[in-house]
Amino acid sequence: MQYFIDVILPIPLEKLFTYSISGTEAEFLRPGMRVGVPFGKSKIYTGLVHNVHNNKPEIYEAKEIDRILDEHPIINTIQLKHWQWIADYYMCTIGEVFRSAVPGAFLLESETLILRNDEGDVDESKLEDDEFLVYEALQHQALLKVQEVSAIIDRKNILPVLNRLIEKNVILLKEEMYEQYKPKLVRYVKLGKDYLEEEKLEALLNDLSRAPKQSQVVLSLFQIQATNKKPIKVTELEQASGGSKAVIKSLVKKEILEEYFVRTDRVSYDGEEENYDLKDLNEYQKKAFEDVSKSFAEDKVTLLHGVTSSGKTEVYVKLIEECIQKGKQALYLLPEIALTTQLISRLQEYFGEKVSVYHSKYSVQERVEVWNNVLAKKDKAQIVIGARSALFLPYSDLGLIVVDEEHESSFKQFDPAPRYHARDAAIVLAKLHNSNILLGSATPSVETFYNAKTGKYGYASITRRFGNVLMPDIELVDIKEQSRKRRMKGHFSERLFLAIQEALDAGEQVILFQNRRGYAPIVECSTCGHSPQCPNCDVSLTYHQYKKQLRCHYCGYHMALQESCQACGSHTLDTKGFGTEQVEKELETLFPDAKTWRMDLDTTRGKHGYEKIITAFEQQEMDILVGTQMLTKGLDFRNVSLVGIMNADSLLNFPDYRAHERCFQLLTQVAGRAGRTKKRGKVLIQSYNPYHQILQQVSTHDYDTMFKEQLYEREQYKYPPSNRIIKITFKHKEYNKLNEATEWFAKALRTTLGGNVLGPEYPPVARVRNQFLKNVLIKIPHAQSVVKTKAAIKKIEKSFNSVSQFRSVRVIYNVDHI
Ligand code: ADP
Ligand code: ZN
Ligand code: ZN
Repeated sequence: MQYFIDVILPIPLEKLFTYSISGTEAEFLRPGMRVGVPFGKSKIYTGLVHNVHNNKPEIYEAKEIDRILDEHPIINTIQLKHWQWIADYYMCTIGEVFRSAVPGAFLLESETLILRNDEGDVDESKLEDDEFLVYEALQHQALLKVQEVSAIIDRKNILPVLNRLIEKNVILLKEEMYEQYKPKLVRYVKLGKDYLEEEKLEALLNDLSRAPKQSQVVLSLFQIQATNKKPIKVTELEQASGGSKAVIKSLVKKEILEEYFVRTDRVSYDGEEENYDLKDLNEYQKKAFEDVSKSFAEDKVTLLHGVTSSGKTEVYVKLIEECIQKGKQALYLLPEIALTTQLISRLQEYFGEKVSVYHSKYSVQERVEVWNNVLAKKDKAQIVIGARSALFLPYSDLGLIVVDEEHESSFKQFDPAPRYHARDAAIVLAKLHNSNILLGSATPSVETFYNAKTGKYGYASITRRFGNVLMPDIELVDIKEQSRKRRMKGHFSERLFLAIQEALDAGEQVILFQNRRGYAPIVECSTCGHSPQCPNCDVSLTYHQYKKQLRCHYCGYHMALQESCQACGSHTLDTKGFGTEQVEKELETLFPDAKTWRMDLDTTRGKHGYEKIITAFEQQEMDILVGTQMLTKGLDFRNVSLVGIMNADSLLNFPDYRAHERCFQLLTQVAGRAGRTKKRGKVLIQSYNPYHQILQQVSTHDYDTMFKEQLYEREQYKYPPSNRIIKITFKHKEYNKLNEATEWFAKALRTTLGGNVLGPEYPPVARVRNQFLKNVLIKIPHAQSVVKTKAAIKKIEKSFNSVSQFRSVRVIYNVDHI
């Protein structure tokens, strides 16, 4: 009898690949274990066993595996089912799901690998263009191979670039094959065993009286031991005794002290052992809790719709408590930007060591640790809080999933595949585990609210802020009017200016929101109209005054700002539009005494960049915080009485069917940062168009009308939830080839699917990184089978790929594109 395994390779292959194994291996191997397998001419990949069988492949000769990498499965069967669903639904391969689902350290391959250096604080502005491209690619992918880097920077000899990147702490190189994950060991000390008896100890101290430094170290050891019973770290002893490493070393050498090592988990919680009691829910929270529980009893996905600061988190906490009482695992999913220390510490206060955190700013090692803890079903990973990738941990017994801020578009992965929506994938995961799932938001997405309205989902709501704090008072400020009357100071209306003044005088803090970073999005010559463009993308360069640079926000290209116009030479360069930097600059002149800070992508790089700003603001080290949408989420600042929106119009004028919904959500969320304690918060929204229905709805907190109008429009124009959509993006370097290819594809789609095919069309930014882009949008009405439609599209892609000149055109599917 011959034995074979089907293996999932972490690359986009349509089919699983079959390898031959021996009888003994067949007995040992189980689905979910990793194997090293040869692929292509000389590559070795880490593959995952999918199933063991006796069917020889017909088309090719099955190769033997290189080695077995695990003793036990690291992926369970529920996960494999979940991955398959993701691959089918989002039209990608299960190999792509595999690659993005596991920590990079699980996928090491036989060639030199380039890893991102998660420890290094990278200053992007110091990177050359080619270096930036590599850096950028590593943001999406934990590992790159030499050939991949070669392709990215379009050059054979990449060593100089790699060397520079190593110097700048951007990357690490791995040459070992199958490098094992190394747990971090911590060095501890205790008294040598010869001195445990009291007499001997006394003698020792006498002996040491002539060596004051050594005796100090021994005395400190006692002191620490007396105050707590925990093992004593070497570093701790060093600090407490003021003794140097050398002194401790010599004591160890004399066997007065004994060293020992303990494996420790990096992601451990250092807080107090005792847990805080859960808070008692108020009557509204109680009612919501009961409604949620009833709906769970009916096995329904449930929406918790609670206004900002209504205390949704406390309701989640009660549900989590209930879940872990039953011995089950709980997952708390949040958008990356809402995953703050504030929230994490709140959960740790309640649940102590049971909470593990999982997100992309953590190093590969830290992620491996959480993974293994979940896999071993350890107590310390019974509750996982994380961003969308936390969905992929090896849970074996989920009892509850909370998707907080369920409306957030960052739950949808954009690039690379799988382009999944973490909320929707979580709903499927909950089904597979028979687990409860709660979606929470103050501003639910139109889809979710629609599902709740139609009874598909259960529904619970909290309409009051906790502690009877009033909803913020939102006022619209007409800046067209104010400009006409010459009442503007820079980008500040007189109304906003005075309100800031008043808040500062009262010792309160202010948040200002502007949805663009940099100083100005466009620099334009007022003589000839020329404005500098990115050479790689079809966009104007954004002016960053702080670094005196023009930068492209799509590819990272940057150049120094020129004194004169590059086209006509005039010294008449002017800026158009404004970003966070300009707001910050204006504040310096308008409020010279106030301490102002800026929070956007440019100021929050590095592992703790974001936290530092939040903590400083929380501790009132600054008066005004200017920022992009980063500051809308999950932050609970006590002393903010005023929120100003610098310009709401830029949010409304997006060419996207979701722009209005998104604008409503964003403004409501930002506004929700104001007045979270006793005093009623004030929100000022500046706009040229204050009578716009969305702004009116925001100012009257009228979610229902917003929902009704948006739903009506979606139905009219055949967008979700009344239709499903699939966006196909085509990419190629050559403009003409791309046009030809997309015309071909769209025509084939129309022939098969009829009228509901839009495009091909260029997106607003039609060239990014020297690749032209074109989109086709497919709408699928409810009556039409989604599965069949996808199959039809895939079939067309097959024919498309058999046309030789189209083969190099990349085809990217985005199902439920948002
Ligand atoms: P949301 O998530 O709905 O915006 P939070 O859960 O952050 O609201 O609650 C807002 C504030 O009210 C927080 O500071 C929280 O500590 C407090 N709070 C909420 N519920 C309670 C409760 N039952 N008892 C005491 N404080 C509460
Ligand atoms: Zn000019
Ligand atoms: Zn660019």
